[in-house]
Amino acid sequence: MAGLKSVEESIRKPLLYWDNNVNGTMNLLKIMKKFDCKTIVFSSSATIYGVVSSDPIDEKCRINPNNPYGHTKAAIEFMLKGIFESSKDKWRIANLRYFNPIGAHDSSLIGENPSDYPNNLFPIICNVAQGKYEELKIFGNDWPTLDGTCVRDYIHVMDLAEAHTSALDFLLSNKSQLIDLNIGTGIGTSVLELVEKFSKVNNCSVRFSYSGRRQGDAPVVIANNNKAISVLNWKPKRNLEEMCKNGWEWKKNNPLGYQ
Ligand code: UDP
Repeated sequence: MAGLKSVEESIRKPLLYWDNNVNGTMNLLKIMKKFDCKTIVFSSSATIYGVVSSDPIDEKCRINPNNPYGHTKAAIEFMLKGIFESSKDKWRIANLRYFNPIGAHDSSLIGENPSDYPNNLFPIICNVAQGKYEELKIFGNDWPTLDGTCVRDYIHVMDLAEAHTSALDFLLSNKSQLIDLNIGTGIGTSVLELVEKFSKVNNCSVRFSYSGRRQGDAPVVIANNNKAISVLNWKPKRNLEEMCKNGWEWKKNNPLGYQ
């Protein structure tokens, strides 16, 4: 959970991403070896699938990332595969492929606090609602979707957190194995729908305008989460309203984040 995660930054600073994400994981795995720890839940990403036409995406979909961030996540999955193959009877590995986590803990005590200009949609919406940014630029309204804006699979960060504890329980109570799991809700929401839901639930306005498409974006990215639901004792429980409400409460109560 110490990975760097900005696509845009990874394009500008690929070596930083390879060093932090890949070397960082390699160092961790070396230390795990030293202490004979052979169980790991890895924070992977739907980014490893790249731009795909099949939707929803299942775990058998080809790994074909199209940016350095995605390359590092895919490289780590390959590294873990090699380690697993080297001693299949010992390793317990779960690659959790996150879709779009948003929201915050409902205590408003734990939330997202980007140290730089955020690139992800949700923290930008929060900053616009807070008056920190003038408006949200929506990247394209001419995509082949119902309202022309991109569709993503947003998942409450606490559902994502619970997927981790479930994955760990699963690994520890089953035979050694390597398992890939999509962690999403299976529900698609467009950028416009998210902005509207956020404004309605939190009774605030989010100014936006349309700009051109962002390079490397896919029109629709939705998880097929059947495998995670059937294998783990888990399912996503929180809806888009709760994501918007909890995310905004965190932001409102902590305008300066953790400072
Ligand atoms: N997006 C947008 N304006 C922004 C940031 C993001 O319109 O300032 C869109 C982006 O094109 C994508 C969606 O919001 O369709 C989610 O983007 P994000 O970067 O949060 O996650 P991604 O799906 O790219 O990993």
